[in-house]
Amino acid sequence: MAQAAIQNPAFFDDGAAREALESVRWPDGPVCPHCGNLDQEKIAKGQGTAHRAGLYYCAACNGQFTVTVGTVMERSKISLSKWLFAMHLVGASKKGMSALQLSRMLGVTYKTAWFLCHRIREAMTEVNPTPIGGEGKIVEADTTYIGGREKNKHVGKRKAGNIGGAGKQIVHTLVERDGRARSEHIANISGATLRTVLDERVSRKSTLMTDTAGGYLHVGKEFTRHEMVDHGKDEYVRGDAYTNTAEGRFSLMKRAVYGTHHSISAAHLSRYLVEWDFKYNTRKNSDGERAALIAKGIEGKRLTYRPTNGNHRSTAVH
Ligand SMILES: [Zn+2]
Repeated sequence: MAQAAIQNPAFFDDGAAREALESVRWPDGPVCPHCGNLDQEKIAKGQGTAHRAGLYYCAACNGQFTVTVGTVMERSKISLSKWLFAMHLVGASKKGMSALQLSRMLGVTYKTAWFLCHRIREAMTEVNPTPIGGEGKIVEADTTYIGGREKNKHVGKRKAGNIGGAGKQIVHTLVERDGRARSEHIANISGATLRTVLDERVSRKSTLMTDTAGGYLHVGKEFTRHEMVDHGKDEYVRGDAYTNTAEGRFSLMKRAVYGTHHSISAAHLSRYLVEWDFKYNTRKNSDGERAALIAKGIEGKRLTYRPTNGNHRSTAVH
């Protein structure tokens, strides 16, 4: 399977890449990005000149367009086949892919690979996320700490005072059992912060499963049911009350972060979490379907993210 995917001509040939992108973005034929016309009788394919491959004319507005108009790829110097190959590689990697790995696989500079990685993560961002959970659904909520010197210690061996200490970032996740996940980088675990997180991301009709962190106490009462397991008393499972799904995701994430990326700065953590959730939420999709979702997600996001300079900081807001 992987072998076949790697031999996909769209990963080497720009013409094939363009056709693949067209079939993903326009399953029912080209759509004019200027006026929205999708009447195929009013759209004509240009006579393929090398400098404007894939050009279409729209008779409704007399405009011209290609499949990349309005996408991050429009003015990119990166070839379309490399874009598609990168979407496939990043989408298919179970543990995530560093810019260094991607640069080697694609034969592009580190800077280009870095740019691709972040654009692809941005494409993984859900545009209008709906709350997870609901009637009859169970949602686990949990937090973990990432970064800092305590990272390799088992939770029980950490000193309480060190948790959340300098250099550590807090990640919160919500996982619907057999469903979707929503994760974010949070500043603290106060009741106010956790309430904001839960308000936006999970239906109150759900059953909520947490540990005994104080921040969940009040907001938990607003759910159909709220069960807590007391890790401090070595209680991890009590009937259907547990947070093992969330904890399992955290341990995989830490292995991926430390194994693949070695470390992730606070500034990039939320983008990494987008990728982490995307992979989880598409875990039943094939690699090809995941790459197609990325290709679709990349449209219309051209202006939302712009690297400011070589130090890899950005003004992105998710
Ligand atoms: Zn038009």
